[in-house]
Amino acid sequence: MSELISRKEITAILKDMKCHKCKQGVFHPTVELSVENTNPKQWQHRCTSCKYEVYLTKVYPLIEYKEKDFMFADSLRFERNPNEVSLHSTKT
Ligand SMILES: [Zn+2]
Repeated sequence: MSELISRKEITAILKDMKCHKCKQGVFHPTVELSVENTNPKQWQHRCTSCKYEVYLTKVYPLIEYKEKDFMFADSLRFERNPNEVSLHSTKT
């Protein structure tokens, strides 16, 4: 599989969401990576400094390349709450 993936080095921009509470830390996804199935989806993030928790519609840090945002793939792959409707489960 991986030999089919072509690789190209790029220059991208890393975007972090600053905490509006303490103005020190940045919001990173929590270990549980709790997802709210709102539309759009929201991911639970916690401040790296004051531990304040927020739900954000994108997973930070984000990579920006050619004016488009790219998200950490694992946050999309795994559904953390099996009781909720998953985009990935085709069997019902
Ligand atoms: Zn904070």
